[in-house]
Amino acid sequence: LNAQVKEAEHLPASTIDGHSVSLLINSGLSAGFEYSQNVGADGVGLYRTEIPFMNRSCFPSEAEQTALYREVLESFAGKPVTMRTLDVGGDKSLPYFPIIEANPFLGWRGIRITLDHPEIFLVQIRSMMKANHGLGNLAIMLPMISSITEVDEAIRLINQAYYELTTEFFCNESDVLIRPKVGVMIEVPGVIFQLEDLANKVDFFSVGSNDLTQYLLAVDRNNSRVASLYDFYHPAVLRSLNYIAQKSQTRDVPLSICGELANEPTGALLLIAMGYKNLSMSAHSLAKVKWVIRHVEYRELRQILDQVLSLTTTASVHSYMHEQLVKLG
Ligand code: PEP
Ligand code: MG
Repeated sequence: LNAQVKEAEHLPASTIDGHSVSLLINSGLSAGFEYSQNVGADGVGLYRTEIPFMNRSCFPSEAEQTALYREVLESFAGKPVTMRTLDVGGDKSLPYFPIIEANPFLGWRGIRITLDHPEIFLVQIRSMMKANHGLGNLAIMLPMISSITEVDEAIRLINQAYYELTTEFFCNESDVLIRPKVGVMIEVPGVIFQLEDLANKVDFFSVGSNDLTQYLLAVDRNNSRVASLYDFYHPAVLRSLNYIAQKSQTRDVPLSICGELANEPTGALLLIAMGYKNLSMSAHSLAKVKWVIRHVEYRELRQILDQVLSLTTTASVHSYMHEQLVKLG
């Protein structure tokens, strides 16, 4: 089987009946890029910029960030790379930017911090755009969005960075700065009820299934005492994911998923049935997920999904999916 999984690495991620999807990787370090290329990744669906900010003693400068992002974009030249703006707070902290709160996951996190500190945000956006010059494979993604006001404010700052760079460096008509696509993460449940409003503002949606599950079910994703309650296959999570897919399709907004759900073949298959076309996952899961996709029929997945969406408990979803995977071989 391992040899077969390996063989599929450079074949497309298409079902037996020809339904194709893109498989991308989640990353945060430049180490391992070569491996990702080798396993046949179609690009980077989530580059967690906070990771390179972590083991340092101060914020990286604009020049340092530009060099870092350039390396990532160059490694994947010709393939899309979605970089997420700084997502600290919650469980991720920077030694030189301490945040002490009683409820960190409900507190000062992600976009909330960078909008309160536009100097941090602007330097990061400027660095990304400079790094993208001449390459053009960058997309910018905003984490922890919970309101339209935040999106408006972030886009205003992105436009400001674009305008400043253009006047500083790229005022020549033959050397135009590329304007990257801007998207939002769907990971705070409230925005599920504002997808229509968001669709008018951004270029793409990317579901963060890790936080979406945590917030939908009110279960700390890192607390072992409630770990058994934290489950992607809870009917409420699956129905939300399905609803997001339907809304994005009606509004024609490109949709991807970058939480850990797509690492599991079961999760990946259900997401494909829902209509997700871009699945981002850890590099080490990619070959296995691709192999499974190449051995199923989309038509069959749709039927499985219909059945799954009618189930009312997490346990029944697990046992039904287990049966189906056994049947699929
Ligand atoms: C998520 O929440 O699903 C996600 C991809 O972001 P992170 O795990 O970095 O919070
Ligand atoms: Mg998240």
